[in-house]
Amino acid sequence: METITYSLRCGSNNSQEYYQTVSRFTDEVLINTRDSLLPLVDEFKEYILKYKLEEVREDEEYILELISFGVLWHTYSRVALKVRVAPFVTLSHMADWRKKHQKVKPYIDIARGVLTTLFLLPGKSNSPMTSFPSLAQLDHVCKWFEATGEFKEQALRFIRWRAFWNTKSEDELKRTFLAIHNFTNWFRDKSLDSLGKYTVNVESFLRNSFNHYLWREDRISCTRSRLEYHLNMVGAELMNRAFRKEFLKTETKALLLPGCMRGRAAEDCKATKVPGGLHCEGCLAGCHVNQLREMGKKYNFEVYVIPHASDLSLWSPKEGFPSRGVVASACITTLVEGGWELKRYDVPAQCVILDFCGCNKHWHKEGLETELNVRQLKNILAHPGHSTPVL
Ligand code: SF4
Repeated sequence: METITYSLRCGSNNSQEYYQTVSRFTDEVLINTRDSLLPLVDEFKEYILKYKLEEVREDEEYILELISFGVLWHTYSRVALKVRVAPFVTLSHMADWRKKHQKVKPYIDIARGVLTTLFLLPGKSNSPMTSFPSLAQLDHVCKWFEATGEFKEQALRFIRWRAFWNTKSEDELKRTFLAIHNFTNWFRDKSLDSLGKYTVNVESFLRNSFNHYLWREDRISCTRSRLEYHLNMVGAELMNRAFRKEFLKTETKALLLPGCMRGRAAEDCKATKVPGGLHCEGCLAGCHVNQLREMGKKYNFEVYVIPHASDLSLWSPKEGFPSRGVVASACITTLVEGGWELKRYDVPAQCVILDFCGCNKHWHKEGLETELNVRQLKNILAHPGHSTPVL
């Protein structure tokens, strides 16, 4: 099997070992946050309670927000701070419009590709990274995150942390950013040791494909650093832990699959359009979507194929309908952002990473038929104490 950037299989014929490895490493991450990030989370929770800003969420979610902040700051702050003038608001709106108006999406994407390259990615910055940002710098980088359309959910969360950090003295802020900075360095080194074998192709892919993605809308999405891959691997695991309780309470379940899992090209696939996505009509026995649809009949979950960058608000709970939990599958670069978006729409969600990426729109000329780990899917759907899914 050809590996483009990552493979959870790592030369084996399934990704069982990956799931054990990432679970163990996530435990290690959580232990390491006890004296570093967790005290920051506790203070943030007190602040949220005091000002009644939201219902307090699980620690794992806040920890993921801080790890994401550290990694994204480390990866993008130099470039983002170099950008002085850009149509930030227009670009941010365009990212929303392409989700809501699928018919004009190709035109919006052309414009976004040009504007992103012209304004948001002005080449590498030579200035050293600022490990202790001012709040004004933080505001600027959050605006950049939103404008890219790739980190909108993260930016929304960082802005909430920023409001909290505004209540801190200069010394307290320095201590906060030092803790995040040190943790990010630890995470960079340790994640490479633990998860690096699943991402060995990322760096050569980045070197060889730089020109291919110039002027393209998916430039940022497809040129993520290796560290971001590791962040999203741990992020998917942390999200599943944080959202598990709510997911298990739901009455019905739906599995959302990407178009690249289909056994036929999009124009030959016989799936029909339904609210929320495409419904597989079972035209090909060996198609992975069809096989999961058959599994869904047995275990009582629905299967939808959804286009990349869909409007996920369609999945939000509706009054008068049974509560619905969603299991979403996508490649590493988009899964965590999607998980946070579902959370924002109040959808109890879980996720399963595609074993490898391969769609012909973003990653591969001919396209690879992608797959997920069915055993992991069953684990996610299973209620504790039952060996098979009870839905
Ligand atoms: S089996 Fe379903 S998803 Fe696969 S190609 Fe046919 S209609 Fe499309």
